[in-house]
Amino acid sequence: MTQKTAVVTGASSGIGAATARMLAAQGYKVYVGARRLDRLQALAAEIDGVALMLDVTDPESVAAFAAKIPVLNVLVNNAGGALGLEAIAELDEAKWLAMYQSNVLGLARVTKALLPQLRASGDGHVVNLGSIAGHETYAGGAGYTAVKHAVRAISETMRLEWLGEPIRVTEIDPGFAETEFSLVRFAGDAERARKVYEGLQPLSAEDVADSIVWAVTRPSHVNIDQIILKPTAQARVDKIHRG
Ligand code: NAP
Repeated sequence: MTQKTAVVTGASSGIGAATARMLAAQGYKVYVGARRLDRLQALAAEIDGVALMLDVTDPESVAAFAAKIPVLNVLVNNAGGALGLEAIAELDEAKWLAMYQSNVLGLARVTKALLPQLRASGDGHVVNLGSIAGHETYAGGAGYTAVKHAVRAISETMRLEWLGEPIRVTEIDPGFAETEFSLVRFAGDAERARKVYEGLQPLSAEDVADSIVWAVTRPSHVNIDQIILKPTAQARVDKIHRG
């Protein structure tokens, strides 16, 4: 049997790195992409994968990345995240544009570029990382909730446009997961990032990766549309029990 293949974008940390490891453990040849190539190379060495530089916001980078990917079974569109927590009254357009570039356009751009390889497999699967921020809103969060609501719209549209083709589409919508997410959101402020998870047990990157790999490893006729997973101590994005 030929080895199944997977691409994980944003695999240099957090959920992406954990997903790459778990897919490799399931026997996939995993192609990992992100901007921090040193981290990707260490990961690829560990899982016998392939490390490739990828900036999803740059069409040329995406084209060069896609040119190196063979027939593809699984694409995990994970690259993305949040920048800042400003109210609309303090709108920072550069941050909103950057979030749209990575979470929305980047996701669509990578998918378009890899669609020929997914189709060629005869058994493709696209997994998009949304968030509970795609289902809810919170003060200061509009830039991020807007892009994750967009991921929901795109995931549903993919299912409509590929109806009749052997390509599954799954959206994974986590609540608080302790990764580099908050560190990036707060521009490297480790103390502010730590406080987000204070007094509760957040999801781990592995918890989220586990749900991704579960969806991917269902039989080909079973499409898991959406998984929402949250820490038990989180009822809504901003309703948290801290012990
Ligand atoms: P993370 O640890 O900060 O990982 C984000 C990854 O995305 C990094 O590997 C980063 O790599 C990559 N990335 C960012 N911009 C990129 C770009 N332009 N091109 C290529 N790669 C890029 O955060 P995470 O929690 O694992 O986040 C993964 C996904 O889950 C994101 O889409 C996030 O919105 C979503 N999510 C996270 C949470 C949470 O609480 N953690 C909850 C819901 C949804 P480089 O910097 O090396 O490029």
